[in-house]
Amino acid sequence: MLFDRIAIIGIGLIGSSIAHAVRAQGLARHIAIADASEAHRSEAAALKLGDSVHGDAAEAAQDADLVMLCVPLGANAAVARHIAPALKAGAILSDVGSCKQAVIRDVAPHLPAGVHLVPGHPVAGTEHSGPKAGFAALFQNRWCILTPEAGTDAEAVEKMKAFWGAFGSKVELMEPRHHDLVLAITSHVPHLIAYNIVGTADDLEAVTESEVIKYSAGGFRDFTRIAASDPTMWRDVFLNNKEAVLEMLGRFTEDLIALQRSIRWGEGEQLFNLFTRTRTIRRAIIDAGQETAAPDFGRSAQGGVTEPVKPKAD
Ligand code: NAP
Repeated sequence: MLFDRIAIIGIGLIGSSIAHAVRAQGLARHIAIADASEAHRSEAAALKLGDSVHGDAAEAAQDADLVMLCVPLGANAAVARHIAPALKAGAILSDVGSCKQAVIRDVAPHLPAGVHLVPGHPVAGTEHSGPKAGFAALFQNRWCILTPEAGTDAEAVEKMKAFWGAFGSKVELMEPRHHDLVLAITSHVPHLIAYNIVGTADDLEAVTESEVIKYSAGGFRDFTRIAASDPTMWRDVFLNNKEAVLEMLGRFTEDLIALQRSIRWGEGEQLFNLFTRTRTIRRAIIDAGQETAAPDFGRSAQGGVTEPVKPKAD
């Protein structure tokens, strides 16, 4: 058993998936759950996600060897401030937030001496939220990036590597700043593009709503899945990874203008070369086991799904 008591603060998609996975792997004697939402606490209790369920996060964190913050990024500072007096010396405080510099900025100043901060980000998720959305296999064969600062207790880092490794995740250590830059281009900007294109289609007056839905298999449908992701979570991601997102968005906009120019001037070769290059990236993702190779993401001709669509990377 890796930990005696684990506290999971925030029992949404990620928190409940961790609870399932901890239980499945027998990683803790006691799982203490806390959530601000009474409805989510009742759901967590009904699903038996933990051994105790608390409205007060400090109560759950009391005596915990590992406290996992699984709340939206915007809530981290207040939760860390509130639970700090309850944290025991030697405890590990970790999280799952999608940006890492902001977590360190918001959480580290509140921690008492002797508590080890090992920030983490499982690069796995779905467009669903809440305690019912979680499942133990979410992290299997997915990356989990840990971003401890230099000088962090080595044993605490090793324990967190073992924790995520036990879920079937591949673990990598990264500088927080580099993490935020990489995730800006692989996750945050793609989500922004999806939110934007679905919003644009919704605003169009010349195309009716039923046409948007009817012809969605032309590409739009796949954007709608990403654009259905949790509004609170994604608002917080953009507010907390502003610098890296704006940097990547600048590069993206320049490249988009170049494409616009190629279309305007009939530069077919430019378009063809880019589309050939991008196709190899898709193939590399499939070869790396991060996506299904089945045509149309494994959807059948009837619109059903012929094989489970793997969880999308966040
Ligand atoms: P979620 O399903 O919405 O769950 C968050 C839970 O935290 C909700 O039950 C929420 O309750 C609760 N909460 C909010 N403020 C709280 C507070 N102050 N104290 C205690 N509980 C509080 O969100 P999620 O998708 O699991 O995301 C959680 C974290 O994981 C985020 O930081 C996100 O960046 C990260 N992450 C998400 C994904 C993904 O794909 N979803 C992937 C990787 C990492 P209410 O709903 O009532 O507010």
